Amino acid sequence: MEYNFLTKCVHGSGREGSCDESGAVSFPIYQSATYAHRGLGKSTGYDYSRLQNPTREQLEKVVACLEHGVDALAFSSGMAAIATLMELFRPGDHIIAENDLYGGSIRLFDHVSSKNGIRFGRTDLSSASVEALITPDTRAIFIETPTNPMMHVIDIEKTAEIAHKHNLLLIVDNTFLSPCFQNPLLLGADIVVHSGTKYLGGHNDTLAGFLVTASEDVAEKLRFLIKTNGTGLAPFDCWLILRGIKTLSLRMEKAQENACAIVNWLQKEKKICKVYYPGLPENPGYEICKKQASGFGCMVTFEVESQELAAHILDNLKLIQFAESLGGVESLITYPITQTHADVPRGMLTANGITDKILRLSVGIEDVRDLIADLDQVFASYPG
Ligand SMILES: *Cc1c(COP(=O)(O)O)cnc(C)c1O
Repeated sequence: MEYNFLTKCVHGSGREGSCDESGAVSFPIYQSATYAHRGLGKSTGYDYSRLQNPTREQLEKVVACLEHGVDALAFSSGMAAIATLMELFRPGDHIIAENDLYGGSIRLFDHVSSKNGIRFGRTDLSSASVEALITPDTRAIFIETPTNPMMHVIDIEKTAEIAHKHNLLLIVDNTFLSPCFQNPLLLGADIVVHSGTKYLGGHNDTLAGFLVTASEDVAEKLRFLIKTNGTGLAPFDCWLILRGIKTLSLRMEKAQENACAIVNWLQKEKKICKVYYPGLPENPGYEICKKQASGFGCMVTFEVESQELAAHILDNLKLIQFAESLGGVESLITYPITQTHADVPRGMLTANGITDKILRLSVGIEDVRDLIADLDQVFASYPG
């Protein structure tokens, strides 16, 4: 019998078991770089921690189980995961990528992968046809949904159908909704990417990344890459993410409830021009998100009337902290144009609507009355 999601967060699939005989309820941190052999040809199953470490293995099993993958690999950051993923491709290969991606992914594609001969076709996949961009060299489609920061929603099932018709891999960065609200592999994706730094870790204290796959063949290639490139996550950090995952559902449900209340409040504020949240029925992606996810998430983007007001907000919020990142228990506000998306070419920013009036809120699990009071004071104190 398969456990339900809340139970899996705490116990994994229930079949992983503990690595030692002590009965430790919290999985031990195996702080060992290497493992002794009992004799020639008698490995314990662990040889060297770059290949595998029991704590990392436990975390990978739990994440594979949450995302319904055959395998998951834990990396030292989300970017380490995506950089390793790019090693699946060769010079001349072409990848179709959503326009409104995490800025770090765009930087990697433009400045590292391109140098290695990988070419990218980019478009707004929530509205444009992906099929028009497919060439004989296309190998994969890379998406996020909802996108960062403009909250476009892409139909995963439909994109997977097109990908498979043309023998392409569909890669979905599922950081924003996490397995708590969305399981891309069940909708036909081949590889799921996570920045574990965000909701999986959940406490703004650890960097981590994941690749999860539904294909044995892809899993085998990725195992070769993690052992060769040495991009795996360290044992203590694995333990922190394992601990974070235990409360994943509780945190995300609460943060989502807070996000809905904040969206309501923001919509009534006259100095706000537009609120971007996939849970708003007027969001073009509302129906698709409702169909393919069990929640709309805890990320809210909004546009204010002027750059001066945006600056005033960033300077004067007291509880909500002005910081990059998302998905932690603390509410954070981000200014994409100078932070997460600083290295994205100007033209592309403008095309995506990322202006100096756009702010992105990662709603945490504080008492929402305090969060709203903070927003209230910052708008009330604006002289403009
Ligand atoms: C943060 C983030 C990443 C990069 O992850 P790091 O852990 O910061 O390296 C990738 N994708 C998305 C959607 C992110 O939010």
